[in-house]
Amino acid sequence: MAEPEVVDVVVVGLGVGGEEVAGRLAEAGLSVVGVERGLVGGECPYWGCVPSKMMIRAANALAEARRVDEFAGTAQVQPDWAPVAKRIREEATDTWDDTVAVRRFTDKGGRFVRGDGRLDGPGRVRVGDQVFQARHGIVLGTGTRPVVPPIDGLADTPYWTNHQAIEVEDLPGSLLVLGGGAIGLELAQAFARFGVAVTIVEAMDRVLAVEEPEASEVAAAALRADGVRIETGLRAERVAHDGRAFTLYGTGGVTIVADELLVATGRRADLDELGLETMGLDPSRRHLAVDDRMRVAAGIWAVGDLTGEGPFTHVAMYQAAIVVADVLDHTRQAQPGPEAGTTLSGTAGPAGVPRADYRALPRVTFTDPEVGAVGLTERQARERGINVQVGLSRLGSSARGWIHRADGLIKLVADADRGVLVGATSVGPAGGEVLSALVVAVHGAVPIDQLRHMIYAYPTFHRAIEDALRNLR
Ligand SMILES: Cc1cc2nc3c(=O)[nH]c(=O)nc-3n(C[C@H](O)[C@H](O)[C@H](O)COP(=O)(O)OP(=O)(O)OC[C@H]3O[C@@H](n4cnc5c(N)ncnc54)[C@H](O)[C@@H]3O)c2cc1C
Repeated sequence: MAEPEVVDVVVVGLGVGGEEVAGRLAEAGLSVVGVERGLVGGECPYWGCVPSKMMIRAANALAEARRVDEFAGTAQVQPDWAPVAKRIREEATDTWDDTVAVRRFTDKGGRFVRGDGRLDGPGRVRVGDQVFQARHGIVLGTGTRPVVPPIDGLADTPYWTNHQAIEVEDLPGSLLVLGGGAIGLELAQAFARFGVAVTIVEAMDRVLAVEEPEASEVAAAALRADGVRIETGLRAERVAHDGRAFTLYGTGGVTIVADELLVATGRRADLDELGLETMGLDPSRRHLAVDDRMRVAAGIWAVGDLTGEGPFTHVAMYQAAIVVADVLDHTRQAQPGPEAGTTLSGTAGPAGVPRADYRALPRVTFTDPEVGAVGLTERQARERGINVQVGLSRLGSSARGWIHRADGLIKLVADADRGVLVGATSVGPAGGEVLSALVVAVHGAVPIDQLRHMIYAYPTFHRAIEDALRNLR
């Protein structure tokens, strides 16, 4: 067995969260080994946020051009996927090559190791036949994988995950999307705007089921207007592929045929492959539980999607800052004496380690209109026993929404006893941007009375917040 090599910190998984932690700890002067089996940067830049938003940018340009007839004359639109695929290949992903990203890490002083990292007893990580002993800690940032539901026959078919959907060069004639969550909806609408006949199959009774029902309605109506067929309350019982097309057999005798099938039914962490049991941790959970400093146990931190705190790049980055501060703090405490910490350039001290707080967690589904939300939905607030007030305004009744002919809404969820907002939803052409005001309100617990008496610029989409505040009851 190889002799363990002693380093300060080992980071396993260099996705959004792991790369940020590893790079910043290396910059602070620690000896850091970063282990990645796929591409440094992870899901977001190669198969997630960035390329999907490039697809959406292009699809929205088509949709806007199609509105010329409504507002400004006539326009003929001829969709072409080639520029989209080219931009994803060349600008977003370097044709799925992480050379630049690896250099970004090693230039900060980190040591990069390509391979599968696995815990191998207290403080140890094994990568193939290399073993590293971490003096100060191990950080896990291994993300999640798509959940492939146990539908009869599905596993034997050439179904797509987000990887194939993002890498596609030639669009199929028709696409079946299993799952009506954020990823399914975004990709469905983008492909539909390029002329693909898209059907979404969702087992729940509405799409975007984790968000407010009013938001689901607007999103579903928008997708239907783009020609997307949406089947809610439909369970897939069997999937077959005849070498050419997919057939989905659903409850109630429903049959749907499509050229391709995209599985977008959620994501989960693969904890059982991380060797958690070698450190006395339970690998059978869906996510890796962390405390508010992102600690899993003594000497182990976790960051990003695998913590289950919110599957978003901004959550991974937020958590990464906490991990960095806490590891540096831990390192200083482990090196007492006059020279303690003198080689470290981090700024966090014992009082400076921030604690994770997800009360004002924002999320945006980048459909058109965008669905932005922060904090609790009405239902979640009621389930927590909060004395709830709700205020709703429709974008169409605001001046800007009427001018724009935009669908959308603002929904506010207030804690009447405390006089603050605990959640909000903003649906509209700039729903994700309008959301920022609501995030500040929830995060800062700004008194509703103050929100009512501030000045909202005319005629903006965000003026609809003022109407919703007026409607709180
Ligand atoms: C289609 C799509 C669109 C999205 N759009 C958005 C968006 O608009 N906004 C947003 O905020 N979020 C979006 N997300 C979510 C976002 O991509 C994730 O939240 C983010 O990538 C999480 O980062 P992470 O560091 O936790 O994990 P990941 O980015 O998944 O990285 C984990 C890394 O760990 C590596 N790894 C795993 N196991 C091991 C191991 N044993 N050894 C070595 N390496 C390992 C993997 O190869 C991977 O590179 C989207 C996701 C998808 C799929």
